[in-house]
Amino acid sequence: MKLYQMTAHQLHQLLLRKEVTSREITQSVLQRVEEVEGRIHAFITLTPEMALEQAAAADRRIQKGEAGPMTGIPVAIKDVICTQGVLTTCGSHILENFIPPYDATVTQKLKAAGAVFIGKTNMDEFAMGSSTENSFYGPTRNPWDLARIPGGSSGGSAAAVAADECIVSLGSDTGGSIRQPAACCGVVGMKPTYGRVSRYGLVAFASSLDQIGPFSKDVQDSALLLKVISGHEPRDSTSVDLPVPDYPQALVEDLRGMVLGVPRETFAQGVDPRVAGSVGEAIEVLKKLGAKTVDVSLPHGNYALAVYYLIAPCEASSNLARYDGVKYGFRARGTDDLLDMYQETRWQGFGAEVKRRIMLGTYALSAGYYDAYYLKASRVRTLIRKDFEEAFQRCDVLVLPTAPTPAFRIGEKMDDPLQMYLSDIFTIPCNLAGLPGLSLPCGFTAEGLPIGLQVLGNFFQEEKILRVAWAFEQNTDHHRRKPNL
Ligand code: GLN
Repeated sequence: MKLYQMTAHQLHQLLLRKEVTSREITQSVLQRVEEVEGRIHAFITLTPEMALEQAAAADRRIQKGEAGPMTGIPVAIKDVICTQGVLTTCGSHILENFIPPYDATVTQKLKAAGAVFIGKTNMDEFAMGSSTENSFYGPTRNPWDLARIPGGSSGGSAAAVAADECIVSLGSDTGGSIRQPAACCGVVGMKPTYGRVSRYGLVAFASSLDQIGPFSKDVQDSALLLKVISGHEPRDSTSVDLPVPDYPQALVEDLRGMVLGVPRETFAQGVDPRVAGSVGEAIEVLKKLGAKTVDVSLPHGNYALAVYYLIAPCEASSNLARYDGVKYGFRARGTDDLLDMYQETRWQGFGAEVKRRIMLGTYALSAGYYDAYYLKASRVRTLIRKDFEEAFQRCDVLVLPTAPTPAFRIGEKMDDPLQMYLSDIFTIPCNLAGLPGLSLPCGFTAEGLPIGLQVLGNFFQEEKILRVAWAFEQNTDHHRRKPNL
């Protein structure tokens, strides 16, 4: 096996035993990027010099015996997360020249842990989308089939892990943007409980839904990375002051006593039969490992998409008001006066989907409509959360498909926003409730497209999710399969 193909925990062992240096690992990954990035386009910005400097620093640290699990490990970061001195575009024209003067909390934590930064990954503009086609910088391609989308909005982060262009990566998930691309690309992706990971330095899309989380080649790496990035941060008032569990410790193979809830509505909602088949088989594997299943119901799930497409655009319309060409980012040239400058900057700077969301949100929040739309949606959101609360009285985790279909073709849904929005039908309810969720590979279609199993947990019960996912992985081989590139 090549170094770039390995997981962080495997590389960590080699580093500790001094069988390899971080410099060698980093060079191997950079070489791989050179070979495949022209076909995948997972990155908006590559930072090879920074990576080699960080690798040298990591090697010094390892020599001194001070290495943690992420020391010397090449990571990629979604371009919506601030990195001091490194371009952070959010996939948008309007931030084409934005170099943040500070690091996000997760960036700081990774630096402190001695990680090596390979670059900033491609994404749907401002994380709005499910295919990475809404990037101003062009689409990312799915490593399993270059004619298909990698999912989105964190498509670059998912594809980079799947194509071995980094060892682990970070994404953000507002309505499925970590789990859905993880499913499309055959990797593990986890959205932590809202408040588990600080959003400080994550460029806001919908602040009450956004959460940062890991992508990795296996469950153990997600547990390791989650532990590094979690924790309270006073500069994010929504980050929660709870101790961070030792997530890797939660990985035990035995599922006896675990109760899996199977939401009966999901399988009734027009799921692709190949997805339903693989997820059904996965549930059988979990049962063999000692878990029991119960039928549960999430009766308000039908409203989740409608609720999300009011709440998320409302918050986005407010969050994106700051991009006006004055303090930072792109500014339209040759305009007549201040108002004209604002209008032209925003007209030229934002893509079609972002404009659609801003218009939807502004409309829904306008005087006279607020009660009918935003307020109503907020109330239904509470009902959706209560559905989960009731379900979790009867089970430890929920198991369901991550996405209704495998990765679709590039261009297939670009003219039909509603079809695109339906890609997130199984991931959105978890964000509305604020719960943690993970997607891991559970099968492949006959043409070799990955299928994802989603495991959802109660608030701050990431450990249970990881335990179920790890046990599944230990008894199956899907995570070992690699795309032919
Ligand atoms: N696809 C959903 C949207 O377009 C979710 C995106 C996300 O999670 N950032 O809003």
